[in-house]
Amino acid sequence: MKKSILLVICTIAIIFLMLCTPKHEKMENRMKQFISGYEAKIIPLYKEANLASWNANITGTDADWAKSEKASFELARIFTDSTAFAELKELKLSGLVTDSLLARQLELLYNAYLGGQVDPALLAEQIKMETEISKKYSNFRVNLNGKELSDNQIEEILRNSTSNKDLQAAWEGHKMIGPVVAQEIIMLVKHRNMIARKIGFANYHEMSLKLSGQEPAEVTSIFDELDNLTRDNFALLKSEIDNYFAKHYKIKTSDLKPWHYQNRYFQEAPEIYFIDFDKYYENQDPVKLVAEFYDGIGLNVDAILAKSDLYEKPGKNQHAFSTDIDRSGDVRTLDNVKPDSYWMNTMLHELGHGVYSYYNDMSLPFVLRDAAHAFTTEAIANMFGRLAKDPLWMQNMGLIDSAESKKIADVSRKALRLEMLVFSRWAQVMYRFEKSMYENPDQDLNQQWWNMVEQYQMLAKPEGRNMPDWATKIHVALYPCYYHNYLLGEVLASQWYSYITANVSRNPSFVGDKAVGDYLREKVFLPGSRYYWNDMIERSTGEKLTAKYYARQFVQ
Ligand SMILES: [Zn+2]
Repeated sequence: MKKSILLVICTIAIIFLMLCTPKHEKMENRMKQFISGYEAKIIPLYKEANLASWNANITGTDADWAKSEKASFELARIFTDSTAFAELKELKLSGLVTDSLLARQLELLYNAYLGGQVDPALLAEQIKMETEISKKYSNFRVNLNGKELSDNQIEEILRNSTSNKDLQAAWEGHKMIGPVVAQEIIMLVKHRNMIARKIGFANYHEMSLKLSGQEPAEVTSIFDELDNLTRDNFALLKSEIDNYFAKHYKIKTSDLKPWHYQNRYFQEAPEIYFIDFDKYYENQDPVKLVAEFYDGIGLNVDAILAKSDLYEKPGKNQHAFSTDIDRSGDVRTLDNVKPDSYWMNTMLHELGHGVYSYYNDMSLPFVLRDAAHAFTTEAIANMFGRLAKDPLWMQNMGLIDSAESKKIADVSRKALRLEMLVFSRWAQVMYRFEKSMYENPDQDLNQQWWNMVEQYQMLAKPEGRNMPDWATKIHVALYPCYYHNYLLGEVLASQWYSYITANVSRNPSFVGDKAVGDYLREKVFLPGSRYYWNDMIERSTGEKLTAKYYARQFVQ
């Protein structure tokens, strides 16, 4: 009886396979064909665009920037091909591309091409609006008692002045950019929403996240988890900050205003703990240290450093970045190294991006030879960057002795905790405000901004204030729907750090432990983007992305 049932099942299965396989195979072959055509076009343009951008960032000449712009445009143009998109759509809807590598490439390529299917006239209009707004931000100077001040000068006043009057004037003066750009931003937001709806999304926020491979509900739930885990501790720290500043400015805590926190947005930790990390680095060479450290954990970076542009030059970009020129081993960083703690952190950070790219799996198809998501490479970079202010790391790298390390351990931990908690509450404001703004740009945005600031940063709105303060943050207008990735990067950095220190290495400074490099190469770098980011995180830590470890590290 059992035998005959088995026979029937087998026969059905064989007939099923006979009927399906050809179609299945046909679709997968079409996908393979698509990929080889795509690779033939993209690989040379990708390299050319990256090299052009690299050159422009180093020389800063108009001619090189024009070349870079042209190469980026040629690269972006690939994704506007509507025939190619129709093919991808058919392959996707068929549900017959099931081989894991092909299916993953289909998913990534489908999203990339979907983002390119915007009416060119609408896109041109969007870029025009963005350029106009961008000019207004660039040209804006705060007018204070007849003097014109830059953003940096405003930050300096907020950080150093103890005059309540000057602080208020600097903060309010800076906020005057709000009314200059607010109406245009609302029009831009509505325009972006229209574009998003035309290609099938509810609004631009949803489109941005989904096309980058993030589910808005998944991101929101991490932010909710983080809010719950940090709220009480942040409230405690906030009252510590308030007590400090009340004394500092000689006012009552109830009279503290948003201009009393040393920053335009209260996005960075105010200086309430005093420790000078720069003095530990003034006689050091961050390049030598970074090479030594990464080599010690089994991720040699000599090839990356050899191609990098390390020091200041006229015309050169003054910041830092890492770039993967060809996904085949040409990885470089641009830096402006100086012997201080900022550049030690930055070098560890950029080389973190660097090793993620450099140690990829060359046998993977081009599409998958990339980080699982922008924030996963940010997480690796942050995890290493944090070491620059870690007394144990400094001790094990031979920068300080154990007595000094012990002496500064407590205040270093407190300073990092403050930095992380202040930033995390600010990122909550940015994420939730942007989401809400794209869902309903016609609401009272001025009030909505302060609702968020009061709820998450626990700052009180100055009485009677009704100004577009949300519009003063340039990211809201010009770098939309990306800010949340900075916080996700910090959250994941803590999850990996905690996993590694519990399961991979007994050395919390990582110094000299090759097991750290082996683990990261195998579990994070080699997989590239072959798995959905949260699956990669689960495969490498046993859990999906969670705020638990970030809280464990910084809340107590
Ligand atoms: Zn980075």
